[in-house]
Amino acid sequence: MAADPDALNRRAELAAYATETSACTRCRLSAGRTQVVFGVGNPAADLMFVGEAPGFHEDKQGYPFVGQAGKLLDKLLAGIGLTRDAVYIANVIKCRPPGNRDPQPDEIEACESHLFRQIEIIEPKLIATLGNFATKLLSGKPQGITRVHGQEQQATLGGNVVTLYPLYHPAAALYTPAMLATLEHDFARLPELLGREAPGAAPAAPEPEPELAGAAPASARAEQLGLF
Ligand code: URA
Repeated sequence: MAADPDALNRRAELAAYATETSACTRCRLSAGRTQVVFGVGNPAADLMFVGEAPGFHEDKQGYPFVGQAGKLLDKLLAGIGLTRDAVYIANVIKCRPPGNRDPQPDEIEACESHLFRQIEIIEPKLIATLGNFATKLLSGKPQGITRVHGQEQQATLGGNVVTLYPLYHPAAALYTPAMLATLEHDFARLPELLGREAPGAAPAAPEPEPELAGAAPASARAEQLGLF
């Protein structure tokens, strides 16, 4: 199959930007990092995930979400028929905060334009923000993840209108079964938000026969058919 020129352009632009970012010293985190963890995945992805910051393993390997939280993210992706090659994954902060502490406001401010440039190049349709930091930064609103998870909202980012979809952070869900159940439930709506059918979804119900249309409310007919 011929390579998609649009994807090739975005790949080249992202690679150039990754090279530029690899020498970043805009904040104190540059002093303690092994390397900048730029991002990974399909540079023309419709769906982008934005997490918080690299942890120990990400800092060593140079890729986001390669530890336990990443394994959960891979499993959740597999559940909706996707692999990480089909999406793009990045973080708000590109360098590991010492001891995995929370990013500081001045570090987020120093780093945010790297993420905004990534969004501008990739032009995703849908951005799933993982946890509080990504959600607050990209929504520009103070509401935390507990209040807004699972509720899509529109935002203009990188010059384009994007759907933001806040999700619990997989690292938080790893240790809290109720949060994991909510994350799985919210995650299952991603195919619908991308405008495609979920894997294994039942085929769309056929249109009613003309003579049946209006005969009984759809819910009553579904009940007769044993759908509830
Ligand atoms: N948590 C994040 O937010 N990002 C990573 O890359 C890994 C864990």
